[in-house]
Amino acid sequence: MNNVKRPKLHRMNIKKMHLNASIRRRLLSYIVAGVIILLLTFTVVTSLLTTKQTSAKLVKNAKQVASALAQQSTLALLTASSINAESAMDQVLEFPDVDGAGLVGRDGEFYVWRGHAQGNNYFSKILWEKTTELTLFDEDENHWYIASAIILYNADIEDTGDTVDEKLGYAIVSFSKNSLYEINRDIILTIAITGTIALIGLIIIIGSAIKNQLSPLRALTEIMVYNHQTGEHNIADVRGPREIEQMADSFNAMMKTLDEQDEKLRHHRDQLEAEVKIRTRELVEARDAALSSSRHKSEFLANMTHELRTPIQSIIGYVDLSREEIESEGLFHVCEDLDKITRNAERLLGMINSVLDLSKIEAGRLELNINSVYLFDLIRNVEEATAPLIPSNNNQFQLVNHCNNLLLRIDNEKMLQVLINLISNACKFTQNGKIQLEIKIQENRLIFAVSDTGIGIEKEKQQQIFKKFIQVDSSESRRFGGTGLGLAISKQFCELMKAEISVASEYGKGTTFTVSLPL
Ligand code: ADP
Repeated sequence: MNNVKRPKLHRMNIKKMHLNASIRRRLLSYIVAGVIILLLTFTVVTSLLTTKQTSAKLVKNAKQVASALAQQSTLALLTASSINAESAMDQVLEFPDVDGAGLVGRDGEFYVWRGHAQGNNYFSKILWEKTTELTLFDEDENHWYIASAIILYNADIEDTGDTVDEKLGYAIVSFSKNSLYEINRDIILTIAITGTIALIGLIIIIGSAIKNQLSPLRALTEIMVYNHQTGEHNIADVRGPREIEQMADSFNAMMKTLDEQDEKLRHHRDQLEAEVKIRTRELVEARDAALSSSRHKSEFLANMTHELRTPIQSIIGYVDLSREEIESEGLFHVCEDLDKITRNAERLLGMINSVLDLSKIEAGRLELNINSVYLFDLIRNVEEATAPLIPSNNNQFQLVNHCNNLLLRIDNEKMLQVLINLISNACKFTQNGKIQLEIKIQENRLIFAVSDTGIGIEKEKQQQIFKKFIQVDSSESRRFGGTGLGLAISKQFCELMKAEISVASEYGKGTTFTVSLPL
């Protein structure tokens, strides 16, 4: 068995378990109960035997006293005079335990009694029925009553000359049982005192012996409690009774197994931690690489779009210049072609602007430019920008404004772009229909609702349209044109302005986009 690091435990912990105390107390209580039963039995048996023997002895004494009284009382009975018996009775009364003495003549005709009282009738009734010469003829709770026949030996028979022994009466002694009771009391007292002393001695000796025997168990318990509290796996070096040593061996084996399992778990955990570290590093590297390449891509896009815008803007500018000259020369049919060039260049410019916005968003370079703008100015700008788009699909536009001319603190450019995006989409996806811009205040928010009576969007596609490059039906959208960026950019702008954008649509019937701006 290995050496053990013996823990210093708080006494309370051991007391709490009641293990040692309880075994000791139980064993002691069994032993005490056994000893008490033994003592009681011993006392009862001893008392019975002593009572029997002492009674016999006392009765024998009493008989001797009665017999002596009888011998000295012949004359008294013959003369029927108590005077002759008085000294004998007085002598008898001096014997210890004799508390009454008397004489009774034949048929009770003579009666004398001294000491402890007893009626004449009592003796007359009992005595003459008894033939025994010396007899214990009665007893009560406190007395024995002994009678001894008073005999006149060789009495002459009248006129015959023969002699015969003649019974004249009885001498009676009343013998107290006090001595018997005292002896009994002494015996019980002696047994009780010696028994109690012996019992206390026994408890002390057996108690310490049990404590001694249980001390290894206590040591084992201390280690168990300590291990439980600290989570350590100390083993117990316990010597003592075979069973406790076996218990300690099993406990130690258990601790060893736990130790081994702990070691394995620790090893496993270390391996896992190392693995997680490697994976995390790889992921961080991959993320950094992705971030950096995304940043590079966004920077490249931003630069490229910027570079692309300049030539397109100069194309538009030169076309405008050329148109003026061509118009002055009256070549109007060429002007139509120039219009087409301008329209397409503007579309291209719009697309490039979208890509530029997106790349700015991705690069995290998009910033809000908050300024004060009147609601009516904002609406007017929207109407002016979208006015050329309305007739293209033979649509009608309606403005429904429920608000006053509020002064808004917003990023005017971005808000304008969002609303133009929504209205130009409505124009694009609606033929011969109605397009409406409704403005109202609801729950302390300014609501812009752009609705149309166009082709609508299927329910399951409605949330996808806010993702980048997503078009509901690319084949159909090709028919309408577009890049799939407008709504994604609008959503980003709205989020930046703490506004919300949502869609409600019924396929084939129309669509409503709502922008809600906190006031
Ligand atoms: P696009 O440049 O393709 O219009 P958007 O992001 O603006 O890109 O729109 C994404 C898609 O959402 C569109 O291709 C179209 O399918 C659908 N969509 C947008 N607005 C409407 C609308 N008013 N009615 C029907 N479909 C719409």
